[in-house]
Amino acid sequence: MKLEDFSIFELSYLLKKRQIRAVEIVERYLSIIEEKNSKLNAFISVNERALEEAKRVDESISRGEAIPPYAGIPIAVKDNINIKGMETTCASEILKGYIATYDATAVRKLREKGFIFIGKTNMDEFAMGSSTEFSSFGPSRNPHDPERVAGGSSGGSAVAVASGMAQAALGSDTGGSIRLPASFCGVYGLKPTYGRVSRYGLVAYASSLDQIGPIARNVEDIAILLSVISGWDENDSTTSTMPVSDFFEYIFENRDRETYRIALPEEYWGEGLSIEVRKVLEEFLGFLKMNLFKIEKVSLPHTKYAIPSYYIIAMAEASSNLGRFDGVRYGRRVEGRTFREMIENTRGEFFGEEVKRRVLLGTFVLSAGYYEDYYLKAQKARTLIINDFKNIFREYDFVLAPTSPTLPFRIGEKIDDPLKMYLSDIYTVSPNLAGLPALNIPVGFSNGLPVGIQLIGNYFSENRMLKFAYFVEKEYSG
Ligand code: GLN
Repeated sequence: MKLEDFSIFELSYLLKKRQIRAVEIVERYLSIIEEKNSKLNAFISVNERALEEAKRVDESISRGEAIPPYAGIPIAVKDNINIKGMETTCASEILKGYIATYDATAVRKLREKGFIFIGKTNMDEFAMGSSTEFSSFGPSRNPHDPERVAGGSSGGSAVAVASGMAQAALGSDTGGSIRLPASFCGVYGLKPTYGRVSRYGLVAYASSLDQIGPIARNVEDIAILLSVISGWDENDSTTSTMPVSDFFEYIFENRDRETYRIALPEEYWGEGLSIEVRKVLEEFLGFLKMNLFKIEKVSLPHTKYAIPSYYIIAMAEASSNLGRFDGVRYGRRVEGRTFREMIENTRGEFFGEEVKRRVLLGTFVLSAGYYEDYYLKAQKARTLIINDFKNIFREYDFVLAPTSPTLPFRIGEKIDDPLKMYLSDIYTVSPNLAGLPALNIPVGFSNGLPVGIQLIGNYFSENRMLKFAYFVEKEYSG
């Protein structure tokens, strides 16, 4: 068995039993980065202190000192989440050279449990995109076929995990950015319930939709990471005060078979779904039926408004959030004859095409005379979408949907057609609009490319979702 086939739990057990050293773990991951990153482009920066930190862990162990539970385990972090002392670029020219002055809360919590940050991962600029092609560092490549996209915007994190360059990773998900790359790369990726995980230290894209979440090769690792990063945070007033359960213990110890009531919304299984993806997913549904879970077709009638309202709301919030990048407060500057010209030059020069498009559209939908027609309507549609889900969760435990309508597409295929790109998110944006948790579960391959299914749960039902996913991981071979 290769080192990267172990789970977080197993690695930390071996470490404490002194059967493996932290330095060996970190060296192994660094050597895979060395071998694969130049081709796959998963990392924007690698932590030069990682090995030193691992040495310190080993020294503590050999002195017989108590160490934190997950000491020495290497985690990758999307480059829009702050790690103190490291660059946070958001894959944008405007932030290159910006060194974070504090840890994001999720990062601080991981650090306290001993995790080592191995590097910062590639992404679409400011998390705006579905393929990681809108990165000023160039696209990440799909490990299953480097001519194809990794999905986005957390493409670098998913590639790092899928190709063994990190034990697991953090991503952020505003409209699918954890689930879509997880699906394209064949790994697990969870967008938690809105408010489960603090957004403090995450560079804001669309604040009412953004969540940080884990990407990993197995369900246990997702459960451990979620337990660590969740919980109320005084620095993020939208975090929930709900107590956080130990998700790992829940799935690991509570092994009695459960039965589930599963809803399949017809709007997610219609014409837009490609034949290749459908075939793999239907085989999986057959497995669920064999296990006698109740599976029924339902309707979420307002699904057709999800993409338009998502993009209006996301762009509106983005146009306001990105106002802070003005050449004064963060990152780089292009001088001008006046203050205003300096701001125009800086933003004109350093924002990429897609970011500019969104700032412009976002400003437009919020402007006087148009606000009621666009932004307000989108908010109303959002409420209808929320109510659709509420109705379904009265009778069902989970909603199952595809994560992506297609297999991973070719690099360059959609980059010139924003609307086509936006439609990649057709199945993932609704849980963000509703604030619901959603998990990509890899369930098979078509033409050598991974296919994932999306498990959507009720608010704060991550424990049951992970238990279901754990059952699938153990029982279903795809
Ligand atoms: N692709 C979607 C967008 O561009 C979602 C991105 C995300 O979740 N960060 O907005």
